[in-house]
Amino acid sequence: MNKLCIVVPCYNEEQALLYTNAELINIMNRLVKSGKVDKTSFILYVDDGSKDGTWNLICNFRKQSAMIFGLKLARNTGHQNALTAGLLTAMNYADMVISIDADLQDDVSVMEEMVDLYLRGNDIVYGVRNRRDTDTLFKKFSALGFYRLMQLMKIKIVYNHADYRLMSKRALLQFSLYKERNLFLRGIVPLIGYPSATVMYDRKSRVAGRSKYSLGKMFSMAFEGITSFSIQPIQMITDLGLGIVLFSICAAIYAFYSYITGKVVAGWTSTILSIWFIGGVQLLSVGLIGTYIGKIYVEVKERPRYAIEVNHLTEIRHEQS
Ligand code: UDP
Ligand code: MG
Repeated sequence: MNKLCIVVPCYNEEQALLYTNAELINIMNRLVKSGKVDKTSFILYVDDGSKDGTWNLICNFRKQSAMIFGLKLARNTGHQNALTAGLLTAMNYADMVISIDADLQDDVSVMEEMVDLYLRGNDIVYGVRNRRDTDTLFKKFSALGFYRLMQLMKIKIVYNHADYRLMSKRALLQFSLYKERNLFLRGIVPLIGYPSATVMYDRKSRVAGRSKYSLGKMFSMAFEGITSFSIQPIQMITDLGLGIVLFSICAAIYAFYSYITGKVVAGWTSTILSIWFIGGVQLLSVGLIGTYIGKIYVEVKERPRYAIEVNHLTEIRHEQS
């Protein structure tokens, strides 16, 4: 059976959802008609504790179409957690899951290609953006910086791929074994290692509503991505520390040489400067190490990543029996 589920995390997406829902139903009908996916395939909206009418809208959609299901999280837990809630729930009811944002920035028509690639034996199909024409200059630059940084930190992620992807049940089962609280799906999925493929598409601008990713959120996402996947920064600080020690040994030799040859070292400025410099490096290092310790603290508590308040999918068993 090739039962497909499209998972859509939504946070205050009232404005975008009407449009998105019509488009998704459309593509789903097309897929079912082509015989590529099972006719019991469905769409799962995850309401990530929205404060607007998102959940009501989802419930209305459900009344209009048997293909629609909702998953309501008890509070806002962020994009990555909401997506995880959707994936891990959908996994129990579907053979393959496609995740897509609610704002339809990603081209839904490539879902057909994704399913084709799945049918040809790929467990993971990454949606990759061709161009970034619709992104603001700022977003383009920050994205470029982000990927460069990831490269530098030796973290394997797929270039220009966000969270638009297909995953097989097998891949999702494997994903469910990654228990970390500090979630960064784009970093985890390539670690799964099952056969994968990519499809290209053009990213559009949001259909409606505003981006939920502020500069601060993007920065913390990059920081999260780095410190959850790489201990490279700690290595770099060790290297920096070593470099500074070597440099100060040379400086000490030079100072001693100047002293015995009678030249007086003009000391004050350099002393003060080096104290500040070393102080800065130390603070930075302690802060960074603290970040990793903080992560250990968060991970060892093993708190739940989300709480499900309502799950329409549980009705499936009743309907079938
Ligand atoms: N989202 C969510 N919880 C949040 C923030 C965002 O579920 O706390 C959802 C949002 O509704 C959207 C997706 O995550 O479907 C991506 O968010 P957005 O489009 O704002 O990000 P951008 O495309 O600007 O990076
Ligand atoms: Mg978006």
